Amino acid sequence: MKISKSPWLLHYDASSCNGCDIEVLAATTPVYDIERFGIINTGNPKHADILVITGGVNAQNATVVKQIYSQMPDPKVVVAAGICACDGGIFKDCYNILGGTDTVIPVDVYVPGCAVRPEALIDGISKAIAMLDEKKQAAIEHASCQIHYEDKED
Ligand code: SF4
Repeated sequence: MKISKSPWLLHYDASSCNGCDIEVLAATTPVYDIERFGIINTGNPKHADILVITGGVNAQNATVVKQIYSQMPDPKVVVAAGICACDGGIFKDCYNILGGTDTVIPVDVYVPGCAVRPEALIDGISKAIAMLDEKKQAAIEHASCQIHYEDKED
């Protein structure tokens, strides 16, 4: 029997112009209703499975992005929402922008757009949920291999 919990989502605005943030919020409203996939919005990285980042990474928030990612329990997935989060976007050549989210942490799903559309975001998050399930399954298989190996050693 497979028991799985609802995927909890954490949204972090790296250095967005707020265009993508409004669309992320729109995705959570009853019009687009991302909660129909069982998703719960959280403000606590320790409860989150999916990190959605908007905006490019800059010199000031690079450490924050890394800290949030490290505080999330494994397995976890990261969604870069909007072209700025994917590769720095129109701010790419600014003096303080380091680049997209993958400059500092691994990204699982890239959702381009300026601003990102709620429909595209929902599509990206459903891909992220599938990847999260795959990572959970791989972790279970790895753990059972370890137990099997340790039993043989005894
Ligand atoms: S992708 Fe466009 S809307 Fe989104 S943060 Fe960048 S400039 Fe703003």
